[in-house]
Amino acid sequence: MTQSKWAWITACAAFAFGPPAAAEGTLIHAGKLIDTRHGSVASEMTVRIEGNRIVAIEEGYTAPRDGDTLIDLKDHTVLPGLMDMHTHHSVQFHKDIYEEGFRMNPADYAFRMVGYAEKTLMAGFTSVREVGDRYGLSVSLRNAIREGRVKGPRIWTSGKSLATTGGHADPTNGVNAVLMGDPGPKEGVVNGIASARKAVRQRYKEGADLIKITVTGGVLSVAKSGDNPQFTEEEVRAIVETAKDYGFHVAAHAHGAEGMKRAIRAGVRSIEHGTLIDDEAIELMKKHGTYLVPTLMAGEWVTEKAKIAGFFPELVRPKAATIGPKIQGAFARAYKAGVKIAFGTDSGVSAHGDNAREFVLMVAAGMPPMEAIQSATLGAAQLLQVEHELGTLEKGKLADVIAVRGNPAEDVKLLGDVTFVMKDGVVHKRPARR
Ligand SMILES: [Zn+2]
Repeated sequence: MTQSKWAWITACAAFAFGPPAAAEGTLIHAGKLIDTRHGSVASEMTVRIEGNRIVAIEEGYTAPRDGDTLIDLKDHTVLPGLMDMHTHHSVQFHKDIYEEGFRMNPADYAFRMVGYAEKTLMAGFTSVREVGDRYGLSVSLRNAIREGRVKGPRIWTSGKSLATTGGHADPTNGVNAVLMGDPGPKEGVVNGIASARKAVRQRYKEGADLIKITVTGGVLSVAKSGDNPQFTEEEVRAIVETAKDYGFHVAAHAHGAEGMKRAIRAGVRSIEHGTLIDDEAIELMKKHGTYLVPTLMAGEWVTEKAKIAGFFPELVRPKAATIGPKIQGAFARAYKAGVKIAFGTDSGVSAHGDNAREFVLMVAAGMPPMEAIQSATLGAAQLLQVEHELGTLEKGKLADVIAVRGNPAEDVKLLGDVTFVMKDGVVHKRPARR
């Protein structure tokens, strides 16, 4: 092949698959740099990136060599890309979302997701765990982002959540008898051990990375209880065991304590929300090393919307009004007791791109800003078991790097204004000159 022909093909590949990775040798001069492993802040540091990897962290401002690209963030604090362990990119909640579901096709949701994913990335969230989607669309979104066709965070996804009949993630709750049908494992509804195992295998076949189950009632489903247990312990155990065969962990939505305890004993990796957690559940989580993903933003959001007459269906409104205000207190208790915390927002309930609001609520509940930052970096990476690749700025790690003006370890609300975003060595956002 002639050289010019090869160059032409390479150029076309770059056109089809998005911008190429950073040129070799990018230096970031960081006014401050957050070390999320030790919970400390260093001043005047240099991050050296080659391709999509961090190759060195150096003290002082290293001078660029020939061919190096210099990114001047001397008036910024630089930290690892943020990681949100609870998102739903196939939706963004609004008043008419229930009716809309009868009209929208999968492709309609898919086009919306593209914009949501870009907002998440531009807010500094370079990785997310997607815990429940519509039509398995987040698998396609993950792949499109990976191929550079769409801008967005790295995604680990469960695909469609698993529920029991009438449970929180049963997709036909609240519809009439004609439309209700009898959804099964393929649609994410399981009853008994055999169908629980089949649903996990179905998600594997569809390309999921993990499993999400709804072990208690939930707020936004059109069903009466927001906290009743909805799986037997044997069913959860069958899911956790089968998930292991495929290298999946299990995330469990839970508000009520009984369903939560069954899930923890059965070996799920994380409890989502944890609203009505009690002392026994806290002790079980510590014993089993289970993570809590707090989603305080969802609590705040449903509490606010419950005040608006007609916003929610009548079955949903009282659940929102009683469960919503309790989430922050539950988090405070679990955190103080020493439960492992991984950052998660439930974005898709609240608007995509607002994710950093969660930091403010965590700090208001008593978590120091640095620990909140660690829960969204190293802590989240540990939940996903990818701490060898992500979660800290260290030699050999993937180059997911963000920056804000000021010091978020002192004022966590600054994370709501991320001005620099690099993911996988590619710069997606730069500070405006001023
Ligand atoms: Zn959720």
